[in-house]
Amino acid sequence: MTKSLAGKAALVTGAARGIGFHIASLLAREGASLAILDLSPDETALAAKKLSSESGAKTIALGGNVAIEADCAEAVDKAVEAFGRLDILVNNAGITKDNLALRMKESDFDAVISVNLKGAFLMAKAASRIMLKQHSGRIINISSVVGQMGNAGQVNYSASKAGLIGLTKSLAREFASRDVLVNAVAPGFILTKMTEGLKDEAKQKLLEMIPLGRLGKPDDVAHAALFLAGEGSAYITGQVIAVNGGIYM
Ligand code: NAP
Repeated sequence: MTKSLAGKAALVTGAARGIGFHIASLLAREGASLAILDLSPDETALAAKKLSSESGAKTIALGGNVAIEADCAEAVDKAVEAFGRLDILVNNAGITKDNLALRMKESDFDAVISVNLKGAFLMAKAASRIMLKQHSGRIINISSVVGQMGNAGQVNYSASKAGLIGLTKSLAREFASRDVLVNAVAPGFILTKMTEGLKDEAKQKLLEMIPLGRLGKPDDVAHAALFLAGEGSAYITGQVIAVNGGIYM
């Protein structure tokens, strides 16, 4: 059976673990070649090895920081060198530095905006040079439910994720005439290293607020990304798909 992404090339940031790894793994199993970018070259290389042994996909590992423009440009260049094209960019790399606003250091505000928001801009800018020439491409930004509803203790993070939604809609308008589609996924609370520090009491409170009665799995998010990367979403751009168990409607 032909795989839905056979012949496509994808680049996923922050893919050494967590949601990014699961997205990369699903895209690879659907036939895409995969470039994965993450901060630690060693962990990224290990993840790339796992991806290719699981799926048989051609995979390259790129160490780099999405907050640095030269790293983003180099990552796109290396992906295009390896695969001859770039069809899918998933801006997944993200960090948190939580605190109440009154106690939050300016540097923690800047760091989160720099990775989560500026990083997506820099990667999209680098990838769009290729995609606009190809007259095709998909850019998928991983936002968050807290960018839509706010969250006490996360002014930096929620501002970055709300900003990503504005970035998504503006890029969608700029790139639509060349068939480069730009959408966002807004996950709710997903079980990864980012959320493993949640205390039991906080988890219990969250569960009471989630109509589907469970935290999300990385694969729940990966399936939304796969949809936005594939043929079935050819008439969708500038949209935000919520994958949040119903916590925000
Ligand atoms: P995670 O387990 O912390 O994984 C994030 C990955 O991104 C890590 O491998 C991290 O590398 C990498 N990374 C961080 N800064 C980077 C940078 N500057 N350049 C390149 N890579 C970088 O997080 P996750 O839970 O999978 O989250 C993935 C995305 O989903 C994030 O954008 C997050 O905001 C979003 N999200 C998560 C949830 C959730 O509940 N988990 C909910 C909504 C949205 P290091 O380990 O080396 O730092």
